[in-house]
Amino acid sequence: MAAFGKTFMPKMTLAKYENGQWQEFNLTSAEQLTLHPGAHVLHYASTCFEGLKAFRHRDGSVHIFRLENNVARMQQSARLLNLPEINAEQLRAMIIRVVEEYVTEVPEPPGSMYIRPTLIGTEAAIGKAAAPTDSAMLYVLLSPVGDYFAGGERALRLLVEEDGMRCAAHMGMIKSGGNYASAMPHILAAKAGHQADQVLFAPNGDVQETGAANFLLLDGDELITKNLDSTFLHGITRDSLLTLAADMGYRVSERELTVSELLERAAHEDCEAALSGTAAVLAPVGELLHNGTLHKVGSGNIGTKVKQLRQALNAIQWGQAADKYGWLT
Ligand code: PMP
Repeated sequence: MAAFGKTFMPKMTLAKYENGQWQEFNLTSAEQLTLHPGAHVLHYASTCFEGLKAFRHRDGSVHIFRLENNVARMQQSARLLNLPEINAEQLRAMIIRVVEEYVTEVPEPPGSMYIRPTLIGTEAAIGKAAAPTDSAMLYVLLSPVGDYFAGGERALRLLVEEDGMRCAAHMGMIKSGGNYASAMPHILAAKAGHQADQVLFAPNGDVQETGAANFLLLDGDELITKNLDSTFLHGITRDSLLTLAADMGYRVSERELTVSELLERAAHEDCEAALSGTAAVLAPVGELLHNGTLHKVGSGNIGTKVKQLRQALNAIQWGQAADKYGWLT
């Protein structure tokens, strides 16, 4: 399988927004898009997107994981960016239509079909630096993906960054390209010289998230992760794992986690940490690099709690356990 996210299905569903309304969507080529070079998105980043997955079960049927939540989060992103309001029913239908088109192409577990709905401002209007786009395009791309950790999984090393921010504090809960652009310099600096795999953003000691995943700490029977506020992306994998963890008997604490508490707890023998996200699922974290000092999280190796939680999530996604929360479409 090619690198994650570089292979696309040849068609996508696409709808245009013009004159104050959405037009009907259609299935069209995913190889090219025609945009005016003055399109609003290319200058003022009027864009948001989503990432979700469809899974193949053993009986051949295909199921989309937490479709409604991703549609709702995209509506929220569009609203907060003053992009045209997304019609939930239309987006839902666009996702289902394109997955149906390629239902036979959905890989077997641990692979899946990654689904990328995207909304962009298309109005050719470079004078609108401080005004919203009048026209837009919504499309749903598909990319078959393998196991993110193919080739051997190991616990990750995170650089704990207290000085920089991933994005502006009021933008974190919006899934928009600009946030990823603003995080990039920090991420590249951390990766330089193989210092760390990812950056854990913790501005002024407030542990938030990494560049593309949420951060969870499992200390003893407690699961600690930041409470929902505007500063970070409200991961749907995070939400799923918190539900599963509570069911498995963990005490789930959604609250402020400071860097000093994190480092103190990391020293506990049975402490584990992980990154959660649609692509990463639940990736173990073994080391934290903070102000030049390397701190192990627990043993520093992949822990059993992270493995168990991840298996519980995969079991539902892959149809090996009952879908008792109604997460599959
Ligand atoms: N934070 C960021 C910045 C992300 O890009 C992602 C991936 N979408 C996540 C968290 C995890 O979100 P989810 O579990 O919904 O994929």
